[in-house]
Amino acid sequence: MKYRRRLFHHRDPYDLKGTDELFIQAVRENCAYVYARSPGYRAILDDAGFSPERLQSPADLADLPFLPTALFKRRRLFVLPRRRLIWVVTSSGTSSGKASEVGFTAGDLWAGLKMVLHICKLRRLISLRPCHHVVFGYQPRLRNRKGVSWTAFGVTFFAPALSRTYALRWKNGDYVLDLQHVQDAIVKHSRSRFPLRFMGFPAYAWFLMKRMDEQGVRVQLPKGSKLMLGGGWKQFYAEEVDKSEFYALAKKVLGLDDRDIIEFYGAVEHPIFYNDCERHHFHVPIYSRVLIRDPVTLRPVPNGTPGLVNLITPMDVGTPLLSVMTDDLGILHDPEECGCGLDSPWLEILGRVGLQDIKTCAAGAAEILNKVEVSL
Ligand SMILES: [Zn+2]
Repeated sequence: MKYRRRLFHHRDPYDLKGTDELFIQAVRENCAYVYARSPGYRAILDDAGFSPERLQSPADLADLPFLPTALFKRRRLFVLPRRRLIWVVTSSGTSSGKASEVGFTAGDLWAGLKMVLHICKLRRLISLRPCHHVVFGYQPRLRNRKGVSWTAFGVTFFAPALSRTYALRWKNGDYVLDLQHVQDAIVKHSRSRFPLRFMGFPAYAWFLMKRMDEQGVRVQLPKGSKLMLGGGWKQFYAEEVDKSEFYALAKKVLGLDDRDIIEFYGAVEHPIFYNDCERHHFHVPIYSRVLIRDPVTLRPVPNGTPGLVNLITPMDVGTPLLSVMTDDLGILHDPEECGCGLDSPWLEILGRVGLQDIKTCAAGAAEILNKVEVSL
């Protein structure tokens, strides 16, 4: 995986133009590796008449067959034997109750670690100053393999932890949401001379801040405190609030400025670290490329046009994550539309659609599912 190594080693995480060639080489390398080892993946590519050597320029990415995330929820698609995968995580599941399982090799994780370090360095998220951590998510247990809980837990290592408080606590054999526990910790730590860092689901942060507001609780968190949001809004789409309203409430009840709020985007099926810029846009880092596809023709659409979000990364060989089709609708914007200085397009997620809502995509997914069922 020499091209992957070089790509994930590249110093500037938003230098898309400077890494276009390296990216396509890494994608070709990944595709050839997985093609040679996974009969299911090979069947999909063969059926589409696609071979890894076809990947010669960025334009060829559009022809690379993608796997819908629904496929990962239905089948365990490991490329390598289980013993070669040193870490296996699951997605947090959907309304259908099915979760994806994704395995990582040591090389996959090493690439991921380098990516996180490059991006965190740029956004100054790594600090040697100890912090109190509040996680709006699951208290990790060794038997809990949910990717999102480990991501949130991992973020608590960006700065030395004086304490960790969890909103979802393991009690009597189940996870229970305990906002009062979190609120008590916030009030207590607001008097500390060390910063407080939050990490977790935006919906829980929103509920908690609203609750504090209703109860008239206001704190001024110490300088250097941060509110880091990730894991999406999940089933709370109906509750999704305007971002400016969210920032205003964070200022009001926690004393946090807009620049202290950082949002992450990612998925178990596409474990790339999307981190918002100072203007709160998700620029595409060099480790991935994003195609927005027309829901009917599935052909890529120009920037600025909404469509289905197709995410491509050569990070993982433990699972065939090279090109995945999410059930998110989004728009890719030109870099200039943000103006923060990062020379990379940015992804706006408009919402989630059920696969059944996208007839053509569902048909495509069903077709791929059938092929895999037959060939595995
Ligand atoms: Zn920006």
